[in-house]
Amino acid sequence: MNGEEILKLLEDEKNEAELFRQADLVRKQYVGDEVHLRGLIEFSNICRNNCMYCGIRKDNKKLSRFRIEPDELVKTVQKAVNLGFRTIVMQSGEDMYYTRDKLCRIIAAIKKFDVAVTLSVGERTFADYKAFREVGADRYLMRIETTDKDLYHRLNPKMSWDYRYECLLMLKELGYELGSGIMVGLPGQSLKSIAEDLLFLKRLDVDMAGIGPFIPHQETPLANSCGGSLHLALRTMAIMRLLLPDINIPATTAMESLHPKGRILALQSGANVVMPNITEGEYRRLYQLYPGKICINETPVQCRSCIGLKIMSIGRKIGMGYGSRKKVL
Ligand code: SAH
Repeated sequence: MNGEEILKLLEDEKNEAELFRQADLVRKQYVGDEVHLRGLIEFSNICRNNCMYCGIRKDNKKLSRFRIEPDELVKTVQKAVNLGFRTIVMQSGEDMYYTRDKLCRIIAAIKKFDVAVTLSVGERTFADYKAFREVGADRYLMRIETTDKDLYHRLNPKMSWDYRYECLLMLKELGYELGSGIMVGLPGQSLKSIAEDLLFLKRLDVDMAGIGPFIPHQETPLANSCGGSLHLALRTMAIMRLLLPDINIPATTAMESLHPKGRILALQSGANVVMPNITEGEYRRLYQLYPGKICINETPVQCRSCIGLKIMSIGRKIGMGYGSRKKVL
């Protein structure tokens, strides 16, 4: 598919059911019926950046900030491993309290549990990424957010699109399984630009692509923006499946925040991964990138069993392996 063909599919609300059906078929053929679960721990909401869309941006003074100390973090992960998770995703704001050494020690401790470790801690240096990889980090998740550089720089003051892209290349070079992705429905983002994002992710040959709707947060400069629609996000995700048939595609939490069945709809339109939250207690509520975040009052046990039942109710099964990308092409 070229940009124009992708654009047509993005615009075509009327026939989206057919696109979703095709993406579901391709998903089944290439990655099968297993849904891989990733236990997501959000371990710090402290961030040096000021992304205009993000609820944990530095200038949100109304938010109480937390960081989970390494010991507690490792304990939480151990409990998640006991619940059966084979992948742990460690996500945070760009919090430099977690130095290279500190993160290395945490990663090494978690790797002892025989799980795949995904990091999602934003932009760091090559030396950091290399050290994390050497102590066992397997995967890295960093969305490019948009490939429209002007839009990116309007939304991410003082950040550089080029450096973010360079980080993605470094991670690839270091042998991480690479996850990236975008938000859909950002103010000033055109469908043509989303089509270009999709081609970018295809060219980068990402192993995982996370696509979610932008949801405006009250305590950000974009509080009064429109936000993305679930359906456009689903169409974008379905096209991603057609472009890169063998990759991992999560049913994103932001989709479920817009619709009670958001993640199930996604799993039936090309997605094959879900990332249940394993963060405990009060921390969940405090890590609100956008409003309406699901499951803020649940426990990890509840999230695991709830999503398990949902997955089985649509005739799918839970993956028992690490759920790495198996390249077909
Ligand atoms: N610091 C890490 C993690 C960022 S939070 C990093 O830079 O990669 C994870 C993702 O949440 C972001 O990449 C962004 O795509 C998404 N996000 C942030 N604010 C959002 C909002 N208001 N609506 C929807 N998604 C949002």
